[in-house]
Parts: sequence; C-alpha cells; structure tokens
Amino acid sequence: MIVTNTPAADLVLTNLAYCSHADLHGFAVPGTKLYLASIADSFVLSLSYPFLSFLTAPYFALKFFDDDTAHESVRNGHIALNAIQRRHARVSSGDTLSVNRFIPPEKFDLALLALELEFVKKGTKSEQVDAVLLAGQLKKRFMNQVMTAGQRVSFEFHGNNYIFTVNQAAVEGQEKSSTIERGMISSDTYIVFETSNASGIKIVNQREAASSNIFRQKEFNLQSLGIGGLSAEFADIFRRAFASRVFPPHVTNKLGIKHVKGMLLYGPPGTGKTLMARQIGKMLNGREPKIVNGPEVLNKYVGETEKNVRDLFADAENDQRARGDQSDLHVIIFDEIDAICKSRGSTRDSTGVRDSIVNQLLTKIDGVESLNNVLLIGMTNRKDLLDEALLRPGRLEVQIEISLPDENGRLQILQIHTNKMKESSFLAPDVNLPELAARTKNYSGAKLEGVVKSAVSYALNRQLSLDDLTKPVDEESIKVTMDDFLNALHE
Ligand code: ADP
Repeated sequence: MIVTNTPAADLVLTNLAYCSHADLHGFAVPGTKLYLASIADSFVLSLSYPFLSFLTAPYFALKFFDDDTAHESVRNGHIALNAIQRRHARVSSGDTLSVNRFIPPEKFDLALLALELEFVKKGTKSEQVDAVLLAGQLKKRFMNQVMTAGQRVSFEFHGNNYIFTVNQAAVEGQEKSSTIERGMISSDTYIVFETSNASGIKIVNQREAASSNIFRQKEFNLQSLGIGGLSAEFADIFRRAFASRVFPPHVTNKLGIKHVKGMLLYGPPGTGKTLMARQIGKMLNGREPKIVNGPEVLNKYVGETEKNVRDLFADAENDQRARGDQSDLHVIIFDEIDAICKSRGSTRDSTGVRDSIVNQLLTKIDGVESLNNVLLIGMTNRKDLLDEALLRPGRLEVQIEISLPDENGRLQILQIHTNKMKESSFLAPDVNLPELAARTKNYSGAKLEGVVKSAVSYALNRQLSLDDLTKPVDEESIKVTMDDFLNALHE
C-alpha cells in the first residue's frame, strides 16, 4: 500500500485500525509487516486516553482502507495517515508498505513475557556490553510495545546502532511449548541475550539484568511522579485494575474479561492514598479526577445525601447517554468513604437513613455495569467500618492496603520532598537522607513531608534578623542542614 497524506485525524471510515509502534519501527526494511485490526467502533486508545500514552504508546489510530470501504478521497491501495501518524509510523508520503490483518493470538495479555533478542549486526571490533544497562535501556525504549517473533528491531546504545532479531516471546513460567508469536514488553519482561560469536559482543552481568531492572524501572516511574515507596502497590493496582483497560475492546471481549469498576485503597492517614488515586485518575483519562469527601456528601436533610450520591454519577451517565461507547472514562475518587458507608443497620443509626444512603451508592455502582465508563476509587482509614456489601465482586472489588512506608520507602519520600532544594543547592551536603530514613520508623509520607517543611523553617529562620525583618535576605546563604532536620525530628 502506498502512504497518502491526510490532513485530518478524524476522517471517518468504517475500518479503524491499530498497530504497535514496534510493529512499524524500521518500516523502511522491506518485508516488514504492518498489523492492523479492524475495530467496529472508533474506540482507539491513543485518542480516548491521551494520558495513558506511557502505557499505550504502542497504539495509535490508523485509518485503514480496503476495497469495500474506500473513502472517496483515498484511492484503492492507499493508506491515509496524518502527519502524527506518519511520524509515529516512520513513513513518508509515497512510501510503500504491506498490510496484514491482525488476528489477536490466544495469549495476548499482560502476563510476564520473555523475549529473546539476538544481535545480528554491529561494528567490527569486539567489545563488552553491560547487560544490566542494555536491558534497562531496551525496556525503557520499547516499554509497552508489541514485539513479534522474527521482527527486526534497530536500537541505539552508547552511540552504536544495533539490530536485534526477536527470536521468540513466551509466557513466563510455562513450558517452551507455550511460546507465542508476539507479546508486549512490560516492566516484568525478562530479556535474554543470545549472541553469536560472529557478533563480537560479549554480554556481561546477564543474571542481574532481569531482576534489578524490573525493580529500578518501576521505582523510577513512580518516584518521578512524586510518589515514594509504593511501587509494589502500584504494580498490584495496575495489574488488577487497569491492565484490561489498556487493550481495545475486541481483545478484552475475546479474553472474556470485564473491567474493574471500583477499588478501595485503605490504610493509615497520610500514606499517599490520595496521591496515588489522583495519579491513577490522571493516567486513565488525562484530567484531574473528581474528588469527593464522605463527610461533605453527607447532608443533614433527609434525602439530600442520596441526591448528592446520585449526582456524583450524573456526568458519567450523561456522557454515556450522549456518546455511547465513545464515552470517556470517569474516575470518581471518594475519600473517607466510611463516613457514608458504615455497615447497614449499625446501632447508632436507628432511623435507617444511613441504610438508604448505602443502598443508593450500591444501586449506582451496580448500575454502572452497563456503562463501563466509571471507575470509583474509595479511600478509607477504617476498612473495618465499611459495609461488607460494598466490597463484593463488581463493586469495590480490588482492595489494596497502603501501609506506612518502610525504610527504603521513607528514603524515596524524603528524596522527593527535598529534590527541589537539592537542585537549587539549598540542601547542605551534610544532609544524610538514608540516616533520616532510618530514624523515622512509623512516620507516614505526610509526616515526613512535615519534617522537611519544619527543617526548612529552621534554615530560613537563621537568615532572618529579628531586629530588622525588612533586611534583605542573602539567598545564596540559605542552607538546610542535617541539624535542621534533626531539630525537626525532635519537634
Ligand atoms: P492519604 O490520602 O493516605 O491520607 P495523602 O495522599 O493525602 O495521604 O498524603 C498527604 C501528603 O503527604 C501528600 O500530598 C504528599 O505530599 C505526602 N505523602 C504521603 N505519602 C507519600 C508518598 N508515599 N510519597 C510522597 N509523598 C507522600
């Protein structure tokens, strides 16, 4: 097929296709195939969930034309791509490419995948390559992209251009016989290097490559989002609640899975539940999620609380009515959900008002079944108070405990909250964050943030002259020292 320009991304056609960046990468190589899938509606991840891009970067919309559905402005045998699509696909107008139907394989899921890569080409001189680094870079570069056995992938590492052949993809933990034709690179992907002697490249450090990189990769992502010490929890949430949302509907339909509609984050206050829920909301639909608070929803007038609960879902319902399957995902974060969802029939409420509030919420959540466009994230410090019915499958079914950070988590949180002052060299070199992390057992993230704030206040205070508060402060000399932190700890 020949690539043709199309100015608009929304040229409406019956066949909409998606493919992976990796599938398209190196398109110039003759024989590389572009895999396209016909999707009945125009639900395309890259359009519906722009902020999921780090998860769904491989997917972008392509308009696919075949003889039956050719658009009048596009000639037979041409594929129309707009500028962004061409750039992603690394093709120019006039290039020729071949197009195959993509038939999702049986095991096309987010399970652990092993991927074998083989060097097929490199420079002439023999050299050593650190597999830890190489695996890390490879995964960073190809994260969430689909790899197909036999695919050739070019990759730049330390200024050299390497070409790999993907030997196979396999579901980890299963026999070799379960080798699959294609799979997706995830943070759990184990990369095995196979080098032929001819390549002249020696891979060192191979064992560590897998485990240490898995760890580092996840830590890195979360820390850069300002969340410390919760990588295991995040990975858990991702796998249990969102993995299914990353795939187009026809794939999830094939796998027979239903999206998770609700989850509960529970644990002590100040541990980052809100932080995490907000981030999840942003990642899933690219805008600030709606956050409501249990006590706020409660209203002293009979019936008003139920109305407030109903109103929460109104946006999602209207959107669904107006746009059907095209509706955006609506993330609703419900802080202190225990305030309105205490066990029904609990003794302190003899009026039955509380019961009807809980019932209202349950009705709404259950009604969401047909919507599929709502994700309710409830948060509580007291899971034990919650009405059991709320936690059943189909409701807040994924429950994740967010507990106090361990030492490593505390270190990450301290790093996050001192990062700015470190960059602007306000942090004195004597500040020993690992030691502070060791000395702050049982501190929550919020409390650690408080320690940092308090340390800063000590440092600023030193600069102020009490005799003359109008005296200009010498910015250069502001330094937050270890003593400031120790003072803050003793407050
Ligand atoms: P929760 O919802 O669990 O009560 P929050 O998410 O509201 O706690 O945390 C309050 C503040 O404490 C956050 O805005 C953040 O500045 C800090 N904080 C808490 N936990 C963390 C964490 N894990 N990483 C970084 N900062 C944190």
